[in-house]
Amino acid sequence: MSFSPEANSDVPTLPKVHSGIPPYLLDKAREAKQDVFAGRTKAQNARQRLPVVPQGIERDDFLKALDELREQLGAEHVEVNNKPLRDGWYMEHPNTHDMMTILDEEELVASAVVFPGSTQEVQQVVRWANKHLIPIFPISMGRNLGYGGAAPRVRGSVTVDLGRRMNAILDINAEDYTCLVEPGVSYYALYEALKARGLDEHMWIDTPDLGGGSVIGNAVDRGVGYTPYGDHWACHAGLEVVLPSGEVIRTGMGALPGNNSWQLFPYGFGPFSDGIFSQSNFGIVTQMGMTLMPNPGGYEAFMYTFPNDEDLGPLMDIIRPLRISNIFENVAQVRHVTQGLASRGLPRSTYYTSPGPIPSSILRAAAASTPVGDHAWAYYGMAYGPAHIRAHKLALIDSEFRRVPGARKIDPSTLPPDEYFWSRERVARGVPDIQELAWVNWAPNGAHIAFSPVSPIRGADAARLFELGKRRVEAAGFDFMPAFVVGLREMHLIVEIVFDRGDVGSKKAALACLRDLVDEAAAMGYGEYRTHLVLMDQIAGTYGWNDGALMKFNEKLKDALDPNGILAPGRCGIWPKRYRGRGWEMTRESGGRSEGDGVGPA
Ligand code: ADP
Repeated sequence: MSFSPEANSDVPTLPKVHSGIPPYLLDKAREAKQDVFAGRTKAQNARQRLPVVPQGIERDDFLKALDELREQLGAEHVEVNNKPLRDGWYMEHPNTHDMMTILDEEELVASAVVFPGSTQEVQQVVRWANKHLIPIFPISMGRNLGYGGAAPRVRGSVTVDLGRRMNAILDINAEDYTCLVEPGVSYYALYEALKARGLDEHMWIDTPDLGGGSVIGNAVDRGVGYTPYGDHWACHAGLEVVLPSGEVIRTGMGALPGNNSWQLFPYGFGPFSDGIFSQSNFGIVTQMGMTLMPNPGGYEAFMYTFPNDEDLGPLMDIIRPLRISNIFENVAQVRHVTQGLASRGLPRSTYYTSPGPIPSSILRAAAASTPVGDHAWAYYGMAYGPAHIRAHKLALIDSEFRRVPGARKIDPSTLPPDEYFWSRERVARGVPDIQELAWVNWAPNGAHIAFSPVSPIRGADAARLFELGKRRVEAAGFDFMPAFVVGLREMHLIVEIVFDRGDVGSKKAALACLRDLVDEAAAMGYGEYRTHLVLMDQIAGTYGWNDGALMKFNEKLKDALDPNGILAPGRCGIWPKRYRGRGWEMTRESGGRSEGDGVGPA
């Protein structure tokens, strides 16, 4: 048991803290917290490399520049990162570093964190960064766990924590089913706001597995939710963006003064600029419109299990036509039993204490003793609409799934209230939850990082990716926990590697395994949809058609929009001119080193 100070504090709640838990999840959050700290043995390390100063500026000049910013924003809105790097946990996450770091703790850390209170103050911060050539890194909530959390890519960047002071829900429109939010609005907060206005029965939000991320942060990193709306970036409408020059723009209809369609028609007139602001480093989003889903008039969650690993291929070929024709209406998950067992929240040592992957016989015997029973794959889905409409779709699904020998429909009434199924059920009807991360407790000091390639929804592709993942992950000594997240015409395979972040060997093995997975998948023609900071250069490199033409285009945009290279250098593999050719890329060869050799002049 850890003696970290945060282990004994209560979970922060909404609305007191913008990133807090809503009251309806407080007990569950307290339990989750207890489980996290029960498995924590990692010591609180003293800081090793202080002060943190970004390359390209002398320490004294940097400290003077911070004083200047204090004068502009108020001293209380500029914090130097010189305290212990507390990892906290999901609800009390740090904004200075990645709480699930896969590198040495001191690698991807901020030098300071600033808290702007308005779009104008974001502009001020950006202009300040240009004046002093200081890299800045925007976060909305900073809970991008598995992808780098709140950490900046360039060590010593000044983190711009937008969420703490810019967390207003600017509009909820119950006629058009839209909202307009600032960066610090979490799914939890948006849901609470709908409830407070008596609108939660009327309109649904599309929440990710965990509701603590911000609506903006999740959309710009192209996260997904599990109602029929699913694709968050596709469902947004309208951005306000502070450019790396400090100018501010509104995209789509937002560019036409006084119009009332900003959240209704994302395109406006002219080129559709929004795309360059997702998975990039071209701007800081200060407002975003999001569409909300009308209550479909009923819903029914369902779950099927399938007995063999080899059922995956036939299953995917059944799912594809049903998904494309919208019989399967939501982004569904096909989860392997390993993750199913881990989702129960108990450490792996409950089942198996030897090193190396957990043997299938032990896994299956453990699954057999749970309410869901023995299986290899589980499909979690939801049918929407009034009963008679659901009945038609569910009957079709049932007859198709039963073509797989041994397919079983699980009767939800046999599942206890704390069963994982019910968490999926809530999320698929727009009610944010906090259960998902329970599988991270699988390892002591559990942390996770994902390999997430995109493929068609085809049996042959699923089988190839399954084989690749299983071989590589098990060879690295980890348990293989695949889940397929089925979009509309494509799916992402998500392979989460759960490692012990208190153990250097475990971290190194996880990273090496991911690098192998990325390279081998690319050689087979598969690329990732999203990734962790440490893999961005490698993955950007796999999208190299025509001598890296796409990256050359991105670099041109970067140099035009951000000539001083101050905004999130290196994010998504896009390096500004001042950094290029100086060894900043993180690759297998660079090992665990995240920094390059200096930066060029402005
Ligand atoms: P979450 O809100 O889900 O916790 P984060 O705040 O950690 O997500 O952001 C996820 C990623 O998206 C980060 O790497 C961050 O740089 C980028 N990002 C987040 N918010 C913004 C924003 N408002 N403008 C530009 N980029 C952003």
